[in-house]
Amino acid sequence: MIATMDIAVTRAERSKLQDINFDKLVFGRHFTDHMLEADFENGEWKNVEIKPYQPLLLSPSLAALHYGQSIFEGIKAYKDRNHNAFIFRPHDNFRRFNISAERMQMPAVPEELFMEGMRQLVALDKNWIPDKEDYSLYIRPIMFASDEVIGVKPSDNYKFLILLSPTGPYYSVPMRIYVEEKYTRAAPGGVGFAKTAGNYAAALLASAVAKEQGYDQVLWTDAAEHKYVQEIGTMNVFFIIGDTAITPGLEEATILEGVTRQSAITLLQEMGLKIEERPLSIDEVIKAHKAGTLKEVFGTGTAATISMIKELKYKDYTIHFDINNWKIAPTLKKWLTDVREGRRDDKYKWMWKV
Ligand SMILES: *Cc1c(COP(=O)(O)O)cnc(C)c1O
Repeated sequence: MIATMDIAVTRAERSKLQDINFDKLVFGRHFTDHMLEADFENGEWKNVEIKPYQPLLLSPSLAALHYGQSIFEGIKAYKDRNHNAFIFRPHDNFRRFNISAERMQMPAVPEELFMEGMRQLVALDKNWIPDKEDYSLYIRPIMFASDEVIGVKPSDNYKFLILLSPTGPYYSVPMRIYVEEKYTRAAPGGVGFAKTAGNYAAALLASAVAKEQGYDQVLWTDAAEHKYVQEIGTMNVFFIIGDTAITPGLEEATILEGVTRQSAITLLQEMGLKIEERPLSIDEVIKAHKAGTLKEVFGTGTAATISMIKELKYKDYTIHFDINNWKIAPTLKKWLTDVREGRRDDKYKWMWKV
């Protein structure tokens, strides 16, 4: 049992909800009326507070800004047809958050702070989850080093926050992708498995180069040979070859272990596909395409759920997909969305009631 935590709550005087145009929501731009804030000082978590969303006062010497000890999570809350709020698999994000924390030499966040704090915050701002299909509330927990010292060492002090941002239908346009052979996202022994700030900064240049060339994202490959596929942008990747769904395994710790990835594996299995989590080379992908067995390629992640790949380029070899004839990715996307919005039986107990 988790003890009910004492969270001080200061309510906003006025809600900003009516100021928001829900038909024109830009992802991550609007935040709800409240946020959760807590401090790690002298070896313990304290000052746990839910309060009006507001700026922080930070020192220019804040350690996180200089050396990047900063981690985050991305989770979504939904409403079912009876207007009850549910959060999708938050315990998996909680576990992953502390895996990231450990890798970055940061303290663990206790389960009751993460889970109970999130539950109370979402309950307070529940009206921000619109009663509309495909709308959700994006939950962003973040922890960063808050020492005011510019020495390279693990910080003694940390801040933990949870922010909430309403999101609308994320129309994920089918993507054009090329196989990245110059830049590297993650190497064995590195931090690819951690949701830490620097991973995203380090990936921006490759994405920008891809966009300049008319592509939407890159397919990351291994650091040593640029032969084995890793992820698509900030999504996990699945290749359907014959009746098998193949996704890179986690053994080298270069892949972010997505909650959507895990959910996709479960549902693809239920759909009757074989699942293989293992190294997959781009040569094998191309061989499968030449043999006519490469059926679908898609990315999985909390923001877009499932993103279909309509074009995949490797050196001078380009694969075009006719995604209108795809069966698996669209079915997977519908199943996932239907579970989240209460239209399909939640047989795996993924939805956590707020
Ligand atoms: C967050 C993230 C994912 C997807 O994880 P989900 O839990 O499914 O949202 C995949 N790759 C990277 C690099 C990520 O940061």
